[in-house]
Amino acid sequence: MKRIFFILFLFCSFVFAAYSQKPNNQNIASDSVKKYIAYATTVTCKKSLSGAVVEEANPIDAKKVQHSVKQDDNIVFFDESKDELEDYDVPSDKLYNFSWSSEFLNPYKVSINDLPDSTLVDCRNFVFPVNTGSITSPFGTRHGRFHYGTDIALHIGDTVKAAFDGTVRIVDYEPRGYGNYIVIRHNNGLESVYAHLSKSLVENNQTIKSGEIIGLGGTSGRSTGPHLHFELRFLGNAFNTDKIVDYDNHKIRYDTYFITKKETYRHKSDLERLKQLRYHRIGRGETLSTIARRYGTTVANLCQLNHLNKGTTLKIGRSIRYR
Ligand SMILES: [Zn+2]
Repeated sequence: MKRIFFILFLFCSFVFAAYSQKPNNQNIASDSVKKYIAYATTVTCKKSLSGAVVEEANPIDAKKVQHSVKQDDNIVFFDESKDELEDYDVPSDKLYNFSWSSEFLNPYKVSINDLPDSTLVDCRNFVFPVNTGSITSPFGTRHGRFHYGTDIALHIGDTVKAAFDGTVRIVDYEPRGYGNYIVIRHNNGLESVYAHLSKSLVENNQTIKSGEIIGLGGTSGRSTGPHLHFELRFLGNAFNTDKIVDYDNHKIRYDTYFITKKETYRHKSDLERLKQLRYHRIGRGETLSTIARRYGTTVANLCQLNHLNKGTTLKIGRSIRYR
């Protein structure tokens, strides 16, 4: 009998130990994200404000900050308590709950819906990542897919620089996608992606200063010509870099930027619309009418969705949208 109790005790201890050591870097609960956002905001406000600005009873430099934030958004302004502020010197540590993956671009599993209503990000030490700069393909819907970055023209071998201070999180090669790419976790809470490089010049976990050369431009991976595919992400969710980067002048638009679900992630509806679309790969012997019948639609509808006319010859292997 005693032995049974002993075995039971051992089993319970094991289960308890396993549970309490379970790493939480795969999934940050939305509540804790909100909590850490509050901390991060606290620091950023404090850091981005000079004493003079505070004395004017205007907590944020009105010229340089977006005005789209409403009073009811959950922003937490800074606490004067010095002890607390010293704990949160690097907002990203708190935002990402110290989670770190050198394997997955988005290990956080925080959907756009679970993002906080509003977070203030310090953008002051931004450096434009390349020397050239015209946009060749913007963020957004492209040929029925979503393009999460902004493509910037460059020549093979041009230097590519880090946009903000931070630490290199991923250096990898994806032959069918990003090619040679780098992901940097920035101290301000953003993450950036630099893809299609001809060469990466940094290593995982390397501390990077804003403007530091991290790689050379190229056309590796799924790319039709030399360019930099540049992304900015917040808690794993990409947003349009054009919201904060002035591509005409190679500058940042704001010293501090409010990331808001409503404005920064305005493209959420486009993503949802794309999810509704359905495609069929054309097989041998198929015609518009057999495909229409298969999906319970009409030839006219297929023609309209795909900008075809009834006489078009279908090419085997191509995709055709049916919804
Ligand atoms: Zn791209």
